[in-house]
Amino acid sequence: MAASLVFRLQDRGPELLREVLLERGWEEYDEEEREEEDWNLYWRSTAFRSSEYHNLLPWQRLNHHPKTVGITRKDCLARNLRRMRATVGSSLYDFSPTTFILPNDYTRFLAEYNKLRLTRGPSIYWICKPLDLSRGRGIFIFEDIKHFVYDCSVIVQRYVSNPLLISGYKFDLRIYVCVKSFHPLTVYIHQEGLVRFATEKYNLSSLNNLYSHLTNTSINKFGPFYKTEKEQVGPGCKWTMSKFRHFLNSQDVNQLLLWQRISNIVTLTLLTIAPSVPSCPNCVELFGFDILIDVKFKPWLLEVNYSPALTLDCPADITVKKGLISDLIDLMNYTFIDSLRQRAYQGQGYKQPCFNVNQHVLPKVKETKFQKRRNRNQSSQTQTLPLLKTLCKPEINQSQHAFVSNYNRHLPPVDLNKIYAARGRIINTTATKIQTDKTLNLILGSHSRTNVSVVNRQKCPALAPWQIDNRSLHMSEVTNHGNTETEAETELSGETDVSSSIHDISQRGPGLRRPAGSWKLPDIHSGNHRPVRTSMEKTALNGHRIPPLRVGDFIRTFPFNTATLRASQSHKLDVKIVIQQLQRLTGQLATSDMEVKENKDVGEDFDSLLWGPRDPPLLSQCFKPT
Ligand code: ADP
Repeated sequence: MAASLVFRLQDRGPELLREVLLERGWEEYDEEEREEEDWNLYWRSTAFRSSEYHNLLPWQRLNHHPKTVGITRKDCLARNLRRMRATVGSSLYDFSPTTFILPNDYTRFLAEYNKLRLTRGPSIYWICKPLDLSRGRGIFIFEDIKHFVYDCSVIVQRYVSNPLLISGYKFDLRIYVCVKSFHPLTVYIHQEGLVRFATEKYNLSSLNNLYSHLTNTSINKFGPFYKTEKEQVGPGCKWTMSKFRHFLNSQDVNQLLLWQRISNIVTLTLLTIAPSVPSCPNCVELFGFDILIDVKFKPWLLEVNYSPALTLDCPADITVKKGLISDLIDLMNYTFIDSLRQRAYQGQGYKQPCFNVNQHVLPKVKETKFQKRRNRNQSSQTQTLPLLKTLCKPEINQSQHAFVSNYNRHLPPVDLNKIYAARGRIINTTATKIQTDKTLNLILGSHSRTNVSVVNRQKCPALAPWQIDNRSLHMSEVTNHGNTETEAETELSGETDVSSSIHDISQRGPGLRRPAGSWKLPDIHSGNHRPVRTSMEKTALNGHRIPPLRVGDFIRTFPFNTATLRASQSHKLDVKIVIQQLQRLTGQLATSDMEVKENKDVGEDFDSLLWGPRDPPLLSQCFKPT
């Protein structure tokens, strides 16, 4: 029987996620039947409490990273972008319209308003958005300050009054961005997205007509022309990104540059918070970036959505969102460690959070019922785990030690007799496939669902094919928890590179290259789902772990070259280097002849795909590497 994974939804939504996961053979969490922590994925549209991050168990994932409000709340985003403009220069961060947070910035807004009125005349427009509302609620546009009245905290922003129109209709793009990890920063953008149209023609002389100026579906679906067949746009108010690509083909525009500029906006926006987001390897996040394109094909960032809507309102939604969620689950790369949940609940009851709440660098949280229970069991674990470390320490090299210490945190308790027996195998630096399998089995327990020998005989379908290949059977791959160091542990151990355990292990031998198609899903995801198109040739470069180029329609956009890979995997994300590399790349795309060259081996160690175009080319195919 395949190991089933369990998902937990806040208020039983979103329905689409439930549908996709049930199709894949997951089970839904039921609080009547299961223990409070008996789940693999907890999905909420609102934020998690800090205790929920602290108490995460190795197989538990959350759909939000902590502290991402810095980009998802309109005022925080404005502040962070302003700070970056002051630090790295306004020319790079010129993708967001000038914004004021009121009431605090009222005087500054007034000064800017008056200055522009004097220099540019009256045809400057502003948009006012309440901070606490979303989906277009409470928004209005004004030209003259005498029409500007507000009674709550708002942002006032320069209105992009020259949007690119399709047959006279305004639109914006909803881009889906997955931050797989903040430490190291690993970002994917989905190839599919939505184009959201206003349902009445754009008209600056009717600023009050929201159906002409706002592109929110929640507003336009109640408009009088929603169902009308509109010129070129059609009925409804959405296109898929694929349809938008067709439209772009008919325009005289440097498409590659446009896509790259949008991708840059995503990276630059994430850079504003990346260094301050706490490391939480069990989290993943899907953001919705709203991008408006003006007549000069300049993309503007309007906002970043914390929980982009996953409701299915129209055929475009179905096409885009179902694939998106499916790819997201693939990107989360559920592997054998996730199925340990069952063992914990059915067997030995081993439950130890990934975050160590006793570390002083993390804020103290009240001890929960679960923690109390865990602490009662602690003594046996604290005896067992250091012993495993001690057993191996004198004779193993640093990478192997990292391997073991990672698993000290994450694996169920082991039988010490078996460890003694396995000692020779653990420390054997020239471990063969059989040895590796046996060792893992001993650590995991012979009855574990993750028993490697069993897996090899395909009796346990919980592992992906690459996991049963001894060349690639190492920690960076068998868990999804890429950087298994928590922030607290990193500080205490003086460890500077959170991924050191990963790349050390991956340097063990000839297994640096995954077999083609190795990022396939484990069979636990039974049921109908789209095949995962992946591309992953190397797992490591000079000791740095390389995330796959693409997973389904998610394209890796960060890191995108060797320098950004290094910058992201150093102790502290090197924002300056990232920015230099982004500028260099954009400059190259802007000046290249835009013809995607023949697929040739350029001899680069590390390559990336250019997100956006229909068949995303390798960056090295877009321009000559310098
Ligand atoms: P909400 O969170 O309420 O959806 P948004 O910032 O996304 O707020 O704005 C809603 C809509 O208003 C956008 O989808 C876009 O159509 C329009 N809009 C917002 N800001 C601007 C702007 N600065 N210039 C032009 N249109 C804008």
